[in-house]
Amino acid sequence: MEFFNKLGQKVSEGSRVLSDTTDKLLEIADNKLAINRLEAEIDEIKMLIGELVFKNYLGKSVPPALIQEKCEELERLFQEVARIRGRLVQMKGVTYCRRCGSQVRGGDSSCQTCGYPIV
Ligand SMILES: [Zn+2]
Repeated sequence: MEFFNKLGQKVSEGSRVLSDTTDKLLEIADNKLAINRLEAEIDEIKMLIGELVFKNYLGKSVPPALIQEKCEELERLFQEVARIRGRLVQMKGVTYCRRCGSQVRGGDSSCQTCGYPIV
């Protein structure tokens, strides 16, 4: 985990310097990397929440505040992913479904994957 955080930071620091030379593609790749990193973190927290809930079910005392805290952390990560996706949309000129995250073609009134209306 720590290793991947550091790796991600190094890569994004490196990309940041280069993107100063206005390389849009690198900036997009950088954002995609950040999303991948966040999604890996999201998976880990989901798993942790699952373990805590199961421990609770087994009668081992798990402080509800701990589960609450992890859920809030998860929500923050989801928001961060949405924020970065929003930036990618601006850079690439495409949009993503706000419900399922699928890429939406310009001009579509609803998501081709889940049918959610595009505003
Ligand atoms: Zn969708």
